[in-house]
Amino acid sequence: MPEGVMKAWLESSHLSGGNTAYIEELYESYLDNSQSVSAEWREVFQQLPKIEGADVEYHHSAVREEFRELAKQGHKTVVVSSGGDAKQVKVLQLINAFRFRGHQNANLDPLGIWQREKVRDLQLSHHDLSENDFDKEFNVGSFAVGQDTMKLGDLYKALQKTYVGSIGAEYMHITSTGEKRWLQSRLESVQSQAKLTVDEKEEVLKGLIAADGLEKYLGAKFPGAKRFSLEGGDALIPMLKEIITRAGSHGTKEVVVGMAHRGRLNVLVNVMGKNPNKLFDEFAGKTDEALGSGDVKYHQGYSSDFVTPGGNVHLALAFNPSHLEIVNPVVMGSVRARQDRRGCDQGDLVLPVTIHGDSAIAGQGVVQETFNMSQARAFKVGGTIRIVVNNQVGFTTSKQEDTRSGEYCTDIAKMVQAPILHVNGDDPEAVILATQVALDYRNTFKRDVVIDLVCYRRHGHNEADEPNATQPIMYQKVKKHPTPRQLYADKLNAEGSISAAKSKELTEYYRKLLDEGQCTVEQWRPMTEHSVDWTPYLGHDWDDAYEASLSMEKIKALAESISSYPESHPVQSRVKKIYDDRVKMAKGEKLLDWGFAENLAYASIVDDGQRVRITGQDSGRGTFFHRHAVLHNQEDASQYVPLQNIREGQGPFDVHDSVLSEVSVLAFEYGYTTAEPAGLTIWEAQFGDFANCAQVVFDQFISSGEQKWGRLCGLTMLLPHGYEGQGPEHSSARLERYLQLCADHNMQVCIPSTPAQVFNMLRRQVVRPMRRPLVVMSPKSLLRHPLAVSSLEELASGVFHNVIGEVDKDIKAEKVERVVFCSGKVYYELLEQRRKNEQKNVAIIRVEQLYPFPEAEFAKELEQYQHVKQFVWCQEEPQNQGAWYCSQHHFRAMLPEGTYLTYAGRKPSAAPAVGYMSVHVKEQQALVNEALTVE
Ligand code: AMP
Repeated sequence: MPEGVMKAWLESSHLSGGNTAYIEELYESYLDNSQSVSAEWREVFQQLPKIEGADVEYHHSAVREEFRELAKQGHKTVVVSSGGDAKQVKVLQLINAFRFRGHQNANLDPLGIWQREKVRDLQLSHHDLSENDFDKEFNVGSFAVGQDTMKLGDLYKALQKTYVGSIGAEYMHITSTGEKRWLQSRLESVQSQAKLTVDEKEEVLKGLIAADGLEKYLGAKFPGAKRFSLEGGDALIPMLKEIITRAGSHGTKEVVVGMAHRGRLNVLVNVMGKNPNKLFDEFAGKTDEALGSGDVKYHQGYSSDFVTPGGNVHLALAFNPSHLEIVNPVVMGSVRARQDRRGCDQGDLVLPVTIHGDSAIAGQGVVQETFNMSQARAFKVGGTIRIVVNNQVGFTTSKQEDTRSGEYCTDIAKMVQAPILHVNGDDPEAVILATQVALDYRNTFKRDVVIDLVCYRRHGHNEADEPNATQPIMYQKVKKHPTPRQLYADKLNAEGSISAAKSKELTEYYRKLLDEGQCTVEQWRPMTEHSVDWTPYLGHDWDDAYEASLSMEKIKALAESISSYPESHPVQSRVKKIYDDRVKMAKGEKLLDWGFAENLAYASIVDDGQRVRITGQDSGRGTFFHRHAVLHNQEDASQYVPLQNIREGQGPFDVHDSVLSEVSVLAFEYGYTTAEPAGLTIWEAQFGDFANCAQVVFDQFISSGEQKWGRLCGLTMLLPHGYEGQGPEHSSARLERYLQLCADHNMQVCIPSTPAQVFNMLRRQVVRPMRRPLVVMSPKSLLRHPLAVSSLEELASGVFHNVIGEVDKDIKAEKVERVVFCSGKVYYELLEQRRKNEQKNVAIIRVEQLYPFPEAEFAKELEQYQHVKQFVWCQEEPQNQGAWYCSQHHFRAMLPEGTYLTYAGRKPSAAPAVGYMSVHVKEQQALVNEALTVE
């Protein structure tokens, strides 16, 4: 390596820390134009190893490796080469410094509180350059100004304008050269200045007037009422309108927005077009009591259409609980459902936008999970625009050292190499440029992008708060700081594009709209663009009659179809055995096991033209080796999915092994099913108790979304559950948690005990028009239990039995002295023990749906046992867990007069199960014996 180059390299602050990206950048310049780098660098690059078949492009990793090696060797004894070439290298280095680190000195904070160290690399002197070189002409490499050379003075000015103005562009962490080049060309070619027409400026001003006007109006009309004002972050309104308008112009049909409470009322009225009168009514406490239990106004969602030059765009603001970041995967799920419905696999037609707070985006783990899902096959949506309303304070916590450990609140976005555009919220034109670049980036590269809107919060966390108590300096500044509307109106007046009088007129007009209770969004249109009609699914109960039977001919044909696969697709020997058995089951030569029945349910649904979507860790195979919906070729690892090969024109069957997360995946699937009523959507936990990690989704969305927001959701959750001695963590799916959430017929909790039951339960969830969540305690050992088998006839019947009475013909009702109620796998243990005991005086009734409690069917089963005095509930779970506490009142209410219900199960326990197999076995035997002992 030439010594001069080495010295330059070693002395550069970029490189001394092992920062090879600079070299890479130089190398890219060289690839673009070999003359753009000095002769010394050229020589180095020419010596790099070549990739076979490529003319010039070498592996960047090879470049990095080469330089890392040299760094390790620590070449220090070098001589500086002098003259133009050396300066040229410095100039390229200067350009690079601005690209890498300009954002650290950009003018981002409207209040000027965010003090940042001066970055030495951005100084000329750091690069051995000075104003004396200003008139010298240098090659500018890939600096995208449309010319190869520039005078250093002009270049330096251009770099400052581009990288240390109101936009701090952070993108050099992206490894794709194409993406970096694209961003450079968008920013450098206009030196980060938006070129707006007067009309466009007026539109931006109107957005700021609206943002400010609404908050002032609400503040005056409802003083002290919580509204989580947007003030300080007003630029969010023109930003969102720009996103929608530009997206619509490029063909987008729907935009789904997720956001927490800050600024939400403003977005509802000034972007979504919610009638302000409706909002005022909500402030005044007028409610529509017919609508479930309802929710506060700053959690409400909204739907409307918005006209753009490309046609109407449907807007949906997702309903949101107080848990700040959890709505992000919900929005992505909703978007994916809409994209799937529109047959759009590139994400062009439906755009997700999520709006974050600065503390929350850095603080909450679900953000990381959401980014991780963003390019995964099951969850990708062609990129999300993520906007941070960075008001530099979270409730009362504002010190950077308290809120995060990284430099920016947005650092997490770098995990997926998303570009991050930090922008000063007081410069609305810069905001518009950042917005346009972000949207175009998303649409071009189908990847996430972040806009960090650096702003402030004019009031406390809510309007009843006193922010001076905790942020005195910040709020002294805020008090004196003019509003974004004022600043922009003054600027437009000063530059002569929009007069002060015109601004005043626009402000008064906005106020008049509010006074008259008129929609404030000119682009608002009544909904026509949304792609699904929910009316067929409204107003149904879980016990409405439905017809789900199938002909034997059909079920046999389906069974045959999904038990076969091409001969050219060799599968693993255990899998082959399972499929060989399925062939026998299809012919009626063998009773059906769980895995086959479950697959047959999916087959019947997709054969009907409907969609099946299953996600979860290991769902293709099934955690417990039972499903095998995906067959892996043992020779070339290709996959064959019998359920995708039933017939031409069948419904899609999508089974995806998910990212290793519960909360974001479940939230995604909730979003999916609240946007898509048709078909069957399943989330499967690897083990049932892992669903703990998704508790917020069960509590805040699944169990209460219909009651709070009127949003139906037909999601099915398979949660493996059963006491098999595997210890505290893999035994219980925490049935009690779900039962405790049950009220108002909000969801169904089922424990099917036979293959026919799982088949008909899954079909019922689709065939019946009711859309309510279905929580299933799904089995583990039952998957292979010799008694847990069903006939094709049982499947074809189409009936899911909410209660299964005594099936043993030897048990005569009149001889029965004791009736045991139970759910799930313990049934088989009771049955086997009773057979072993040769008992004829105990009947066993299985409750297959614990909620909504099937009173009529339960009562019917009990009719024949009116003479019995002993009734017992038997469960595997400890007494404080399982169904005992939540369901016993249902059983008791049905018992014959003068009888009582006892409990047979484990004693109360802090842990769900013991850790020792021997203790487990003893406990299990004891509870079965206790249940069967006639007193
Ligand atoms: P969206 O496409 O989400 O904006 O929804 C458009 C309209 O469809 C809403 O205004 C509701 O009337 C209806 N809708 C959407 N989602 C649901 C749901 N999950 N349950 C019931 N109705 C819904």
